[in-house]
Amino acid sequence: MIPPASGPRWACYEKSLPAEIGAIQAVHPIAYLPWGALEYHGVHAAVGLDGLKAHGLCSELARVAGGLVLPPVYVAANTMKELSHLPFQRHSLNFPLELVRSLARVHLEQLASEGFKIIFVLCGHVGQPHYDTLKEEAAAFNASQTGVRVIATSETDLLPPELVIVNHAALGEVSFLLHTHPECVDLSRLPADRIPTLEQDAVWGPDPREATTEKGRTYTAAFVAAAKQLIQTSLSTPPIS
Ligand SMILES: [Zn+2]
Repeated sequence: MIPPASGPRWACYEKSLPAEIGAIQAVHPIAYLPWGALEYHGVHAAVGLDGLKAHGLCSELARVAGGLVLPPVYVAANTMKELSHLPFQRHSLNFPLELVRSLARVHLEQLASEGFKIIFVLCGHVGQPHYDTLKEEAAAFNASQTGVRVIATSETDLLPPELVIVNHAALGEVSFLLHTHPECVDLSRLPADRIPTLEQDAVWGPDPREATTEKGRTYTAAFVAAAKQLIQTSLSTPPIS
């Protein structure tokens, strides 16, 4: 791909030629690893919401902070499929937690061996203990060496709760998806006569019928500002000796 004429240099890793990767790494040794899930997100949103959202946010962040965006990892544990008291066992691929753990470890090792100095893992799926497992692997990796800094976080951890709270297929997630991938949302499939619920609609959080592209854009801008700050702090913090 043709690099942008000005501003930080960034690209999608899988679309890049070796020389382009080297040129970007030389100025921005940052890898973005969006971690998603294939999980039921109601009748109104695509099953890949978490990875699409994380990849979209990482791309917008890379545009202002520079670096290379990896394709999303769509391997998640603790999806809706595990919630046997709810009627949503279809449309999710649920993987063992230990597989998630080892995939995280190998990704961090491989990205470090490829010369990245900051690895920004954005967890689009925050089912538990899936999310804590990714954060544990990041902490273990940080403790094991001094040359590479891993940041493992989620968009809601970086945003004030008055803007977006942790949710599933609700206002926050759907607004993000409307912003990054509008073709993956169909709000007209939601009930018109009642507020969507977890039990009936797999919606956990504020009413997704209020979701708009505009809100998604606002949430994304706030995320990018907070995440960029986090990356800059990591880049300016000397390695622990
Ligand atoms: Zn989600």
